[in-house]
Amino acid sequence: MRIGCGYDVHRLVEGRPLVLGGVGIPSTRGPLAHSDGDVICHALADALLGAAALGDIGTHFPPSDPTWAGVEGTVLLRHAFDMVRHAGYGVGNADVMVILEHPRIAPFVPQMRARLAEALSVPVEAVSVKATTHEGIGSLGRGEAVAAWAVVCLVPWS
Ligand code: MG
Repeated sequence: MRIGCGYDVHRLVEGRPLVLGGVGIPSTRGPLAHSDGDVICHALADALLGAAALGDIGTHFPPSDPTWAGVEGTVLLRHAFDMVRHAGYGVGNADVMVILEHPRIAPFVPQMRARLAEALSVPVEAVSVKATTHEGIGSLGRGEAVAAWAVVCLVPWS
């Protein structure tokens, strides 16, 4: 069994779509990013790579590479999962903590879990997505950014 952690943060700006865990969320503001800025998928992908000691997403999927520029978070996550699987691992479970001042994402969590479980080839019960605000503290609390922490447990692929 191996454990990995991941973190991602993106600045929020007017007029960009907000996509989290592969699910579009109604919002006037979204992440400024070369990709879709899906912090859940990016944090999870880094947690997967970290658990297998395979580096990080910045190395494997650089925004300077046109292959990965603008790629959907779920696609990037699936690629990271494929690397981990080829190294001999599957996902035991994954847990994600999203930090976002607004809008509330709770209504979209079931859909996110389903999308993530599909990308990770696990049942939905193996994927947890939780959310909190930053209590008005600092840049996250002022709603200037969205962030996510992820922890993943890898098990032998079967
Ligand atoms: Mg990112």
